[in-house]
Amino acid sequence: MSINSHIKTIQQKIAITEQRYDRTPNSVQLIAVSKGHSVEEILQAIAAGQQAFAENYLQEGLEKIKALQDLALIWHFIGPIQSNKAKLIAQNFNWVHTIDRPAIATLLNQYRPQHLPPLNVCIQVNVSQEPSKSGITIAELPALATHISELPKLKLRGLMTIPQPTTTFAEQRKPFHALHLALKALNTRGWLLDTLSMGMSNDYEAAIAEGATFIRLGTALFGPRRS
Ligand SMILES: *Cc1c(COP(=O)(O)O)cnc(C)c1O
Repeated sequence: MSINSHIKTIQQKIAITEQRYDRTPNSVQLIAVSKGHSVEEILQAIAAGQQAFAENYLQEGLEKIKALQDLALIWHFIGPIQSNKAKLIAQNFNWVHTIDRPAIATLLNQYRPQHLPPLNVCIQVNVSQEPSKSGITIAELPALATHISELPKLKLRGLMTIPQPTTTFAEQRKPFHALHLALKALNTRGWLLDTLSMGMSNDYEAAIAEGATFIRLGTALFGPRRS
């Protein structure tokens, strides 16, 4: 199947899943994770109507952003962030999903150019508390959210997670449910967060059932990655 038909199929599945779980129509946005895929493949996705793309690795992302700079696309950074990468991320991306410490937020704010709108950011939460995964605990959220809210060139939009893989649908829903509760708890304390970035190729339907507003799909759209 072509990238075009994969995107059409996924869009239909998103609509059906929204309906099944009483989600507002079009409340789930598809982000195409293009890491490990070429500019040609991205152009095929664009021809199918896709505008939002995500990259994990800075250099790979920058090459694609440059090659496609004449097109109106939205670029999301979804990889781990080292301090020495913060400047180029702040200058080139529209969204960052993976803030997991105050120092990185401070640097992104420092380097976000004045002429651009504030950088949309999400805090990465390690809901399943796996030691190997990045992200903060739910208990640490209020402190980091407060720090970010004091940075004028960042706009805190919500939370992101990459849960431990599980097999059953019921198990897949649990960490997404926990992330949604964490978002609601922050909003009860006065934040106005509208974004839950959760769900990948293998678990996006569970994520939609639990309130995802962004799902991040690579393999389901583009097939297996080159690298
Ligand atoms: C690679 C990646 C994805 C996409 O994963 P697929 O299983 O290919 O859909 C989504 N989110 C993050 C953070 C990733 O690193």
